[in-house]
Amino acid sequence: MDFAFATEPGPDRPNEDHVIASATFAVVLDGVTQLPDLDTGCVHDPVWLVRELGICLVESLTREPLVPLDLTLAKAILWLRSRHEGRCDLSNPNSPSSTVAIVRERGNQVDYLVLCDSSVVFEDASGVTVIHDNRTDGLPAYDRHTVARLRNRPGGFWVASTDPAAAAEAVTGSVPLDGLRRMLLCTDGVSRLTEFFGFDWTDVFQLVERSGPRAAIDVVREYEMNSSGLLTRPGRGRVKQHDDATLAVLCS
Ligand SMILES: [Zn+2]
Repeated sequence: MDFAFATEPGPDRPNEDHVIASATFAVVLDGVTQLPDLDTGCVHDPVWLVRELGICLVESLTREPLVPLDLTLAKAILWLRSRHEGRCDLSNPNSPSSTVAIVRERGNQVDYLVLCDSSVVFEDASGVTVIHDNRTDGLPAYDRHTVARLRNRPGGFWVASTDPAAAAEAVTGSVPLDGLRRMLLCTDGVSRLTEFFGFDWTDVFQLVERSGPRAAIDVVREYEMNSSGLLTRPGRGRVKQHDDATLAVLCS
């Protein structure tokens, strides 16, 4: 599989997204932005977290290319723990965390895994399928107390952080490689094209095929500039005007 990708932080901040592609897999990660003055128990930040998790996933995907992706992720989270265990309080519920989207070629199958609000989208003979873990959509609010109470808990939502059990909560599946027409992975900074800006996924695929993944991020920024104050979700309040934006797309 050949992938093209692009990633860009929101203005004036470090990129808490991360993207990795090889001949057989692609990974997109979105580090969860930390609220100011929040005690995380950790000396590291989301930028460190996504890059270290990326390293652990590459090692796990490369060493064991046939194991189910939830086990691959569980092992990567265990290794990630060991990279700051002893220095940081890994029992803190606000320890840095990340969403995860993975696709991996395995024989004539493409396996996918999605944890939290990054997405895998593919098109085959039956049309476009969006793989999305919608448990953050159901959060009663996005304030620090609610997040700390519901993060990596049954009935709440799940992210890659310090608990390998989160991996078993990911949305996983497989699709035949030879039936695959189009596929992309993205963070919610890109899926806001469909969530807020009126695009459907076929529009996004066509945009990327015509002008490349960078152009899709440019379009996101254009719409964001023109929609100040309008990025709201029912019951969830306003989301930030700009977000880190990342996508990796399978080249046809
Ligand atoms: Zn740490």
